[in-house]
Amino acid sequence: MPEKLIFEISRPGRRGYTLPGLDVEKKALDSLIPPQLRRKKKPDLPEISENEVVRHFVRLSEMNYHVDHGFYPLGSCTMKYNPKINEELARLSGFLNIHPLQPEATVQGALRLMKELEDLLKEISGFDAISLQPAAGAHGELTGMMLVRKYHEMKGNPRKYVLIPDSAHGTNPASVTLSGYSTKTIKSNELGLVDPEVLRQNLNEDVAAFMVTNPNTLGLFESEIIKISEMVHDVGALMYMDGANLNALLGIVRPGDVGFDIMHFNLHKTFSTPHGGGGPGSGPVGVKKEIEPYLPVPRIVDDGGLLKLSYDFPDSIGKVHAFFGNFNVMVKAYVYIRMMGPDGLRKVAEGAVINANYLRVLLQEHYDLPYKSTCMHEFVLSGRNLKKYGVRTLDVAKRLLDYGFHAPTVYFPLIVPEALMIEPTETETKETLDAFAEALIKIKKEAEENPDVLHEAPHVTPVRRLDEARAARELNVRWQKED
Ligand SMILES: *Cc1c(COP(=O)(O)O)cnc(C)c1O
Repeated sequence: MPEKLIFEISRPGRRGYTLPGLDVEKKALDSLIPPQLRRKKKPDLPEISENEVVRHFVRLSEMNYHVDHGFYPLGSCTMKYNPKINEELARLSGFLNIHPLQPEATVQGALRLMKELEDLLKEISGFDAISLQPAAGAHGELTGMMLVRKYHEMKGNPRKYVLIPDSAHGTNPASVTLSGYSTKTIKSNELGLVDPEVLRQNLNEDVAAFMVTNPNTLGLFESEIIKISEMVHDVGALMYMDGANLNALLGIVRPGDVGFDIMHFNLHKTFSTPHGGGGPGSGPVGVKKEIEPYLPVPRIVDDGGLLKLSYDFPDSIGKVHAFFGNFNVMVKAYVYIRMMGPDGLRKVAEGAVINANYLRVLLQEHYDLPYKSTCMHEFVLSGRNLKKYGVRTLDVAKRLLDYGFHAPTVYFPLIVPEALMIEPTETETKETLDAFAEALIKIKKEAEENPDVLHEAPHVTPVRRLDEARAARELNVRWQKED
């Protein structure tokens, strides 16, 4: 390892910060903190000076790759640049230092921000009501599926199945299963889209919902969506949209206008909050009027000019998160939306689509493009033509790291063999896109001429190629002292 663990740098007696000695009398202390609640042994903390702490963490940060460092074309994840003003405003003391148990009268500003964010999301998406509670996209999906169940239960029969296209993100079937429904997979057609005829064969009164990502994970717009939503509604089922790809639609299409009943947003993707590595996120759910009574509580209500958190919704599915969700992410999304304005949001989508198509055209003559149509905000290449050189998509991804780029998403969606899923986002310049395309084209040449350089990649990163199977199967992220 190029950087030791902080416990390994530790030396007995070194201190970064020293508190003054305890000046509370023993008797007083006993009444403040009962002896049985106090630790008997000193905690095993690293002992290290302030200067060494700073250097350790700065060195770690320099080994990291992030959107502030370079291009991050991770498909489906929308790793766009996150404007610093979002952070600045989320750190305002009035937002940062409030407590969720404070009396409502003292947090009117925070409640107003949440209410206004709900209104903005309604306008952007075409839905009638929003819950900000879910903590991420997958959590929004689960909440959405709980709403589907409640809707059908209120009609007397919860139904059995949720239909999902075979290009879906893995969280879709997981959320469906967690909510107690069974999934049925709908095979995509040769264009990479949902085929209304295949869907029709699977539609009946046991189907609770059709769950679809639009644009789908191939970066293609489901052009038959209005027809599809009519067919789904004809059997009394609901239309659920995975809204993780909303970046491609902002200001152009409102999912609520094309037949969807429920959708989750990924505020951390579309509306620019730093994300990855497990958080933080926010996955609000938007619904049509008919489903509004079932939204999670508490909901923000206006009580004669005073905003309140109301639990008075007897048909609600209940709470899905402690308090009311990840407030800090809501502040960042709110700032982003307000800074962009309606015209700016439309330009976001247009820029994302133009950038993706520009890269697609630069690359499609060098790499295999299984689904050839004009894409939306991302596109999926296949590395299958490199197999004849003994090279796999994983090798290409690892070699990109040597050229200073984060790799695209690989091996997803599952319907593309050796997939390379590329989402440039709107925040990149033409020069960056050109440099990335050039690197991928060079790598293709290397695959033909010197495949070993790819097999052994990455060569210049702090750690070389990891045993990913072992890392997943024998996950061990805890340091333990050897006695
Ligand atoms: C990211 C993503 C999800 C899951 O969102 P999280 O916030 O990571 O839980 C679901 N579907 C699609 C298409 C996504 O890209």
